[in-house]
Amino acid sequence: MPRLETTLAEIRAHGGRVTPARRAVLAAILDAGEHHFTAADVLAAVDQAEPQPDRATVYRTLELLTEIGLLKPLPLNGEAIVYHRTDHRHGHVVCRVCGAITEVPEQALIDFASTLQQETHFTIDADCVAVSGTCEPCAAAMTHA
Ligand SMILES: [Zn+2]
Ligand SMILES: [Zn+2]
Repeated sequence: MPRLETTLAEIRAHGGRVTPARRAVLAAILDAGEHHFTAADVLAAVDQAEPQPDRATVYRTLELLTEIGLLKPLPLNGEAIVYHRTDHRHGHVVCRVCGAITEVPEQALIDFASTLQQETHFTIDADCVAVSGTCEPCAAAMTHA
């Protein structure tokens, strides 16, 4: 998997040490089909890894990957930081009730971002947009409550 080696090289270039535990954290992130996860998800994913990375290693590795730009924390209001993988470009709609994250195709975002940019003169982080709303099951549950 070249992506793992490329990322390890980026970490080294950034001045970070590549330890077996950090390699295990990174492999777990890259192997997961999920584009979104919290530190707790990563901790669970490396539960069987040898050597097993400790909490501090997981947190520090997530910080490093954010510094080199592979991960971005989503601007959400939940208590746990949700990381998003920047190697898969898309936006997000997030349910305010259950926290479900649904990916939005990049093209929809580019249109949205360019409208926002014209209106506000902000440079929009188009791959990091998170729009809050209510997902279909939650909306249905509320109507039937
Ligand atoms: Zn995402
Ligand atoms: Zn929901």
